Amino acid sequence: MKFEWLAACAALALVGASAAQAAPKAVAKDAKVWAAAEAARPEQLKLLEQVVNIDSGTGDVDGGRKVAGILAARLKALGFSVESMKAEAEGLPENTVATLKGAGKGRILLIGHIDTVFGPGTAARRPFRMDAEKAYGPGVSDEKGGVVEGIYAMQILHDLGFKDFKQIVFLIETSEERGSPGTQKLIGKLVADADVELNLEPGDLPDKLTVWRKGAAAVHIEVKGRAAHAGIAPGEGRNAATELIHQIAANDGFPKTGDGITMNLTVLQAGTRDNIIPEDAQATYSVRIREKADLAKVMAVVEKNAQTTAVPDTKVRVWRQNPFFPPLPTNPGTEALADRAQAIYAGIGKTISRGGNGGASESALAYEGGIPALDGLGPAAGGFHADTEYLLLSSVTPRLYLLTKLVQELGHAPPPRLK
Ligand SMILES: [Zn+2]
Repeated sequence: MKFEWLAACAALALVGASAAQAAPKAVAKDAKVWAAAEAARPEQLKLLEQVVNIDSGTGDVDGGRKVAGILAARLKALGFSVESMKAEAEGLPENTVATLKGAGKGRILLIGHIDTVFGPGTAARRPFRMDAEKAYGPGVSDEKGGVVEGIYAMQILHDLGFKDFKQIVFLIETSEERGSPGTQKLIGKLVADADVELNLEPGDLPDKLTVWRKGAAAVHIEVKGRAAHAGIAPGEGRNAATELIHQIAANDGFPKTGDGITMNLTVLQAGTRDNIIPEDAQATYSVRIREKADLAKVMAVVEKNAQTTAVPDTKVRVWRQNPFFPPLPTNPGTEALADRAQAIYAGIGKTISRGGNGGASESALAYEGGIPALDGLGPAAGGFHADTEYLLLSSVTPRLYLLTKLVQELGHAPPPRLK
């Protein structure tokens, strides 16, 4: 099957991203906020250590409640009214919604997640530690580092008596690593009552803001064949595994890496016993897209391929996850927020660039809901979803400064909603 239309999508995505990178005028350094951010550092890292050393893999209800309890108490002490909201799916700890009212204009929604991809016992095996450059530990950057940064930005604003905003809502959610099944409706509700979303996912290296994110969908190919004795009557069988291999080969032209659409085989199952021709076989792909419309194009190719089988009398069924996780496409609202962030960072003599990645986040839901969203505001980091996960200590204070100043600016002069 021809894949030329893919090159066109990738080229399009690149054009949008490169256009927005003229360096905006620096915002003068706010010495008070900088001093407060520096002073907060030891406490900030101590709180980070405390929550990293508590396992809270998605679905770990006890661990999630413990971490949320610690953070909620901090926000309560800063004058936030804190609600614990039942998750929208089974087996998940509650989401925390903390609200602070002000006397100004902007309605700011901060979103962070405290669930990690790591199982029970990981923190004991691999507790929080630091060396001269980095901090390590399960979820240290994805995303406990960002959530703790959010807490300290609220601390600094509190200590400065800052009230020039209409409301700040801080959502701490518990199922992001599985596509936020426990939080999607709640996010929709909070977005409807906000002007802008700031997301505390980690910043990509070397020191980047996230201004686009791919959407994600699981695409499944199922083959039905006919079972038979692999020794006595193999010819009577219709090998579903062989047909699946044929389908996988037919769909192998999709890119597996890069900024455009990617399609990666992630799960493969076939056969039950070594003496039976397999009747059933399934494959699952993680498809990542830059624009919502890309998914239909991918599905059209996979569905077309499914009509041609190599093994006679086999049936191929193709279906996808519904709903899928939408992308945060390159868009002017996010670019304008990134301009503000760059200007603030330039004020402390630092450069922050912008980019995107294939990981999904709630910012896409904020964009879908009609507000500009800026992502990747947590500390700069790497090694996500692996034992090597870390955050860069050199980014901790500058990022705290950036987030605090952004909240001040957006409280005073919020951007227009997108819809
Ligand atoms: Zn994350």
